[in-house]
Amino acid sequence: MAERSKTADTGSDIGIDEIITGNLSKYPVVPPGYYGQPKKGHLLFDACFESGNLGRVDHITDFEYDLFIRPDTCNPRFRVWFNFTVENVKEYQRVIFNIVNFSKTKSLYRDGMAPVVKSTSRPKWQRLPPKNVYYYRCPDHRKNYVMSFAFCFDLEEDVYQFAYCYPYTYTRLQHYLDNLQKRNMDYFFREFLGCSVQQRKLDLLTITNPVNLRPGVEQKVVFITARVHPGETPSSFVCQGIIDFLVSPHPIAKVLRDHLVFKIAPMLNPDGVYLGNYRCSLMGFDLNRHWVDPSPWAHPTLHGVKQLIVEMYNNPKISLEFYIDIHAHSTMMNGFMYGNIFEEEERFQRQAIFPKLLCQNAEDFSFSSTSFNRDAVKAGTGRRFLGGLLDDTSYCYTLEVSFYSYIVGGTTSTVPYTEESYMKLGRNVARTFLDYYRLNAISERPLAPISSTWKEKAFCHRYGYNQGPGNNQAASKPEKKTQASLKDHIHSP
Ligand SMILES: [Zn+2]
Repeated sequence: MAERSKTADTGSDIGIDEIITGNLSKYPVVPPGYYGQPKKGHLLFDACFESGNLGRVDHITDFEYDLFIRPDTCNPRFRVWFNFTVENVKEYQRVIFNIVNFSKTKSLYRDGMAPVVKSTSRPKWQRLPPKNVYYYRCPDHRKNYVMSFAFCFDLEEDVYQFAYCYPYTYTRLQHYLDNLQKRNMDYFFREFLGCSVQQRKLDLLTITNPVNLRPGVEQKVVFITARVHPGETPSSFVCQGIIDFLVSPHPIAKVLRDHLVFKIAPMLNPDGVYLGNYRCSLMGFDLNRHWVDPSPWAHPTLHGVKQLIVEMYNNPKISLEFYIDIHAHSTMMNGFMYGNIFEEEERFQRQAIFPKLLCQNAEDFSFSSTSFNRDAVKAGTGRRFLGGLLDDTSYCYTLEVSFYSYIVGGTTSTVPYTEESYMKLGRNVARTFLDYYRLNAISERPLAPISSTWKEKAFCHRYGYNQGPGNNQAASKPEKKTQASLKDHIHSP
């Protein structure tokens, strides 16, 4: 990279992150000593839009610029998400952008991840070619890790937009949900559980056959949340994939709606999303560390969701069977899960069933990366808190998906995620519930410790357990619950 000119800024980097407080607004970057109207090629940076983030730009040369991420509001420790536009470019102008104040050191940029770009005439997001992206420790910036990328602007009239990953805004979610509502599906319900600090809606969706909502009917509930961490945009694509599948006419979706009640809070941190934060809420809280005692004024969205979950837990007619919180991971590949550690071996084994089944349905999901832990640092997360609260028939997971890519099993080929492949993971999560409950019908016999023979049998026959006489026998054991089991209602897909 070019030698930095010794301007007044050099050497005063310490603490600079703390004094960036707002996003750049149509900010023209001109060479030092230039005072007139900006000319063509004097780049105009902007991040004053929804989910935008860029706090400062320094002109290094006409070809090189240092870019500073605006830290999360009220919490300068987090600087990862960026999302900004550049215009007033010259045709074939070549530049190098250095993002110089990341708060993380490990990053998938080491492994080939690249920022995404689109422009007004090419509105579909795409990843930059990895060969144009460099990630390295930079002596000029307190030995911070810096990500540099080279780019050639090819169309003068275009406005170019660059982001850490595919953006998914609060407004986009609102439009998506508005459109679902307009379809008047009798199995889709939308309500507001409350408001964020800045009065944005906390949406709660219920997807189920309306028969299940009649008074007195026992409900098996699957509760799903997403975007507690606002910069983790893949979480929203996965969540949309789940919703898309569950409201679809697909026969599996219909069976799932007939037998389960899906409760989905698709955006737990709408202010953070709107503001372009990476990790925190407006007031600088990492909401996923406040499940133990959320405050109605400081963490209102979390407080609302927790209250609802506790109410459901206390309702004898409701069996809360799954809680899944969707995140994105900045250093790992693939989709994978975190689960809890339990004293009882049998519960621990049962908890592994859903991720194992998902691994068979989704080529990007890795069971070997799935892990179970009880780290003190994760104590305030939804998964850990609810894992401790709910009884032993409930399973709580964090579903993680890589910001970058997945490796197809048995190969070394790396497939970068697209918006579509994130949604596909969501669809696969949804349909895995059918596999789980079909298998569960087999496992609902007297609770003896699960022998390895049982496990092998169960998994071997996942696709055809009702074909052989032995399996029929297992499946016809009396059901524990009054509801008919799913297996009675669907043939193997
Ligand atoms: Zn997260």
